[in-house]
Amino acid sequence: MAGNSEPLSPRAKLAVTAGKAAAAVSRAAGRGSGSVIGGKVALRLDPDLLRRLAQHLDVILVSATNGKTTTTRLIAEALRAAGPVVSNALGANMPAGITSALAGGSDARYGVIEVDEKYLAGVARDTEPKAIALLNLSRDQLDRAAETRMLAEKWREGLAGTKAVVIANADDPLIVWAASSSTNVVWVAAGQEWKDDAWSCPSCGGVLQRPGDDWVCADCGFRRPIPTWALNGDYVLDPHGSAWPIHLQLPGRANKANAATSAAVAATFGVPPQVALERMYQVQAVAGRYDVVTFEERQLRLLLAKNPAGWLETFSLIDPPPTPVILSVNARGADGTDTSWLWDVDYTRLAGHPICVIGDRKLDLAVRLEVAGLDFRVCENLDEAVRIAPPGRIETIANYTAFQDLRRRVGN
Ligand SMILES: [Zn+2]
Repeated sequence: MAGNSEPLSPRAKLAVTAGKAAAAVSRAAGRGSGSVIGGKVALRLDPDLLRRLAQHLDVILVSATNGKTTTTRLIAEALRAAGPVVSNALGANMPAGITSALAGGSDARYGVIEVDEKYLAGVARDTEPKAIALLNLSRDQLDRAAETRMLAEKWREGLAGTKAVVIANADDPLIVWAASSSTNVVWVAAGQEWKDDAWSCPSCGGVLQRPGDDWVCADCGFRRPIPTWALNGDYVLDPHGSAWPIHLQLPGRANKANAATSAAVAATFGVPPQVALERMYQVQAVAGRYDVVTFEERQLRLLLAKNPAGWLETFSLIDPPPTPVILSVNARGADGTDTSWLWDVDYTRLAGHPICVIGDRKLDLAVRLEVAGLDFRVCENLDEAVRIAPPGRIETIANYTAFQDLRRRVGN
């Protein structure tokens, strides 16, 4: 479907060029990859640029509280079986970053785009996607449950009337609420580990009943839709009832769920599950996440956990005790400056692991662990925490800017 649209106008071409120049200047000044600043300059010159760039592509949008960067990567790998792909692989997921990523992919057929939750409706309007994958919605940092519900409502309004196939998680009531204004939905039973934000009915506010894997509102009848795709242990079940084994280098149940959703997306574009899943095996790490690096003769696995649901997922994938765990928490701008979310995380899941805490807010974390009744040590920095541990695997779990600090320190 790509290729039958108008060529870029001179103004759009100028905007792309100016954006690239600004990005190059930003890189030269040592301010990172420059993709966001480049995109901002380009959008200023041509506010319509995102729409124009997207016209040339079959666009797939991916949004969620957790797992969107990884899923974007898995879908991109799978779709490369069908044609060239452009993607915002580094996770710059607001309009400027997305514009910049698309401007770099003039030969692509598919645009696989991670979108920040708050921008999904707008980006969907601008890019007229062929498919939208919705994974999960839960509180992020300080968002309270009410704000998460408002976000679901905003998605619901924004996606009403979309021509896209919406591939949505049937096990997350907020996702179902958001997706069910769309006419063409493919439901995936992708599971939901974190249920704290989904006890009340998004439709009427009643209490959701949760018998087994099912959920239903006794007051209004809003209920789990019947999925056509499912994650079942280590397998993806497709709509024909065939079970396809998932082999990933990425750890954990959540990534298997991401693979199941990605297989459903790929099938929408004619890529069979077997082919899609084989290609997903190639993904080793996503923007440094899950990478295992050697540092001070230990093997550090780098894990990112940005919000309560993310921490819970991460605890479920680490090696069992006595594998040492290093926890690092900052509270800089991108993290949210308040650390009261620490109280939403069940740290007792770490019982039995030797624990070291580091990061700007190590004392907040220490108080939390003390109340949880855990043994731990407060360390000055990563080097000290690593030296305390015996040789072998160490799990390091960090929130956003703390994760960037870790990557810098280990040279990854
Ligand atoms: Zn209800």
